[in-house]
Amino acid sequence: MRHLFASLLLGLAAFSLGGATALQQGAGSQWTSPGGDAGKTHHSRLTQITAENAGQLGLAWAADLGTTRGQEATPVVIDGVLYTSGTTGRAYAFDAATGKELWRFEPEVDMQVNRTVCCDMVNRGLAVARGKVYVAALDGWMYALDAKTGGVVWKADFIEDRRRGDNSTGAPEIAGDVVVVGMSGAEYDVRGYVTALDLETGKLRWRWHVVPHDPKLGPQETPELEAALKTWDPNSRWDIGGGGSPWDAINFDPETGLVLVGTGNGGPYATSKRSPSGGDNLYLASLVALDPKTGRMKWHYQETPGDNWDFTATQPMIFTRMDIDGQNRPVVLHAPKNGYLYILDRCDGKLLRANPIVRTNWAKGIDPATGRPILDPEAADYTTGPKIVFPATTGARNWHPASYDPATGLYIGAVLDMGNLIFMTPGAKPFKARGLNNDAALIFTPDVKEALAAFPPEFGDAVRKLPAYQEALRQPATAQVRAIDPLTGKTVWAADTAGWQDRGGVLTTASGLTIYGGVTGKLFVRETATGKLLKEIDTGTAIMAAPMTYAVNGVQYIAVMAGWGGGGYPFVPRYSAAYRRENTNRLLVFRIGGAPVPKPDLRAPLEVAPEPPAQAAGVTAQTIVRGQSLFFSNCAICHANQPRSITPDLRRMQPATHDAFRQIVRAGLLVPNGMPRWDDLLSVDDTDAIHAYLIDLQATTRKDELAKQKAGKPLDGPSLTILSNY
Ligand code: CA
Repeated sequence: MRHLFASLLLGLAAFSLGGATALQQGAGSQWTSPGGDAGKTHHSRLTQITAENAGQLGLAWAADLGTTRGQEATPVVIDGVLYTSGTTGRAYAFDAATGKELWRFEPEVDMQVNRTVCCDMVNRGLAVARGKVYVAALDGWMYALDAKTGGVVWKADFIEDRRRGDNSTGAPEIAGDVVVVGMSGAEYDVRGYVTALDLETGKLRWRWHVVPHDPKLGPQETPELEAALKTWDPNSRWDIGGGGSPWDAINFDPETGLVLVGTGNGGPYATSKRSPSGGDNLYLASLVALDPKTGRMKWHYQETPGDNWDFTATQPMIFTRMDIDGQNRPVVLHAPKNGYLYILDRCDGKLLRANPIVRTNWAKGIDPATGRPILDPEAADYTTGPKIVFPATTGARNWHPASYDPATGLYIGAVLDMGNLIFMTPGAKPFKARGLNNDAALIFTPDVKEALAAFPPEFGDAVRKLPAYQEALRQPATAQVRAIDPLTGKTVWAADTAGWQDRGGVLTTASGLTIYGGVTGKLFVRETATGKLLKEIDTGTAIMAAPMTYAVNGVQYIAVMAGWGGGGYPFVPRYSAAYRRENTNRLLVFRIGGAPVPKPDLRAPLEVAPEPPAQAAGVTAQTIVRGQSLFFSNCAICHANQPRSITPDLRRMQPATHDAFRQIVRAGLLVPNGMPRWDDLLSVDDTDAIHAYLIDLQATTRKDELAKQKAGKPLDGPSLTILSNY
């Protein structure tokens, strides 16, 4: 405690020497980290672009990023150079005023890693310090690049155990003389951790594990893990790893000198499968504060004790100061997946507020005295039968950055109010190394009736008896950008997005503007105080990432990364720009008096699925059913089999693909394209069964599409129910 107090005093001293402006009032002409300022408020002090002139916003310059996947990073601008990151950890540098490309860097990535990438081969940003650009590649190598040339100064492997499903999608964070980075993969077989590397050499300085290891293997790495062990069953599924991967928010706090980390969900999902006797399973789904010098934990606050629902606490954090209960306090604002918006004191993790921002039925509220949720197992424990749980595992909030506007005190971000159907998948589940080990199925229910139509009647009957079923019928899903009073959780204004898969990051400015994109391809400018729409620009490319703003030579610019992808990326909704147009990844930069945005090419018209080969001898209806089951437990997370998916629609395989099917699945023929090899998990028989299922599906699809063609109807039908595990 004394130690914490001392570091606090040191932190506050630094604060009074100059950290205050950046932390409390947002970024200025520079935007020094993906969050903009030290508080990661995604708020700018710039005021040149206003409600009066926003109507004249147009394109200043654009850059083709050379990829076609999801773009989630917020660029950084330092000394007139714009740095940004993209697919698998590519990095780019541009002259921020002219758009002239200074360099681009593509890491050499072993694409076998893609087998444990739940939510697209994305990257959420880079860090710039001491003349170097730090970017973490998808396969868990940190690259320190020369900021002037993009040349590799050093690279360091930060994966602890490459036999597991660890990968990396988050932005590194600078904390003193270390760069801190998390990892992803809690859906697979990981034991989560954050790693700190020396800024100059890349040498490992410390590693902090989110969850304990099997106690049979000896003492835990730290006293805080020994304490955490008491909250796990001694016979937990240590083989699966426990999860907890901190895949997004890691914020260094210059006021306290601490690094705050948001930790991930439990693995496997169901608490009773992971830790049979229950327990809080620390430090899953928590905010933890670490000392960046030692890597030791100072405090923790668990938002979802014993996480049962993929309720990660990895979502972005915002640091600011607020007057609460008559005291001006350093606070962190945090809205994780679980549906609450928390305000904690950054010094000690004390809970100050916790208000629901969407419908929640897993908890009836948060007890302010204990800080613990009041659970409702009858409504939300799906291990006793299928349940519709609010909010859905997509999260009330997810990685899309929110912004805090200090003038109005509003927290503005994309909010999804929706439930999902969760149930245990039947049958024994052998452990799958570098495979999905969730044991639970998730079905999103924007249309709960349609979702149930795919199931046997008795299953549907059980679901229809749930009060949450009526609730899902009454109000299926609300997806909005909302301005929320963080002290009460109340929405001040809200703007609907195009649908539940349409969420984006948000920027606010001191001139009273709120700016965000949509997967429809539109960029919106609204008045922060009221939500009034001031301008929209149709770019033709889906926007999920947060816009940012900077100024060079007296001109203010707004920049945003564009490209469809992320969680659920194979399921492209009709309203996504990627449904109609090529998903050309672009960096788009706007200014007052700019030009119209040129749009990517329209996608080629659909053609009827080609004739599949005949089934192999010996294939029976049973083979096809077995293949379908294997397909859903291994392949469906990436292959939606929808005509506009950005992964191949396997109902449209050409003869050469059918011929090479075994080599593609088992021998890694297409690993460089991101299709991993599966020979350790799928036998020749399994592979052939999956192939039989796909041949059957292709034949049915072809028949349906020929009929549609004959009737003059469009070939793309309604989008399918989404079954996923992310
Ligand atoms: Ca997850």
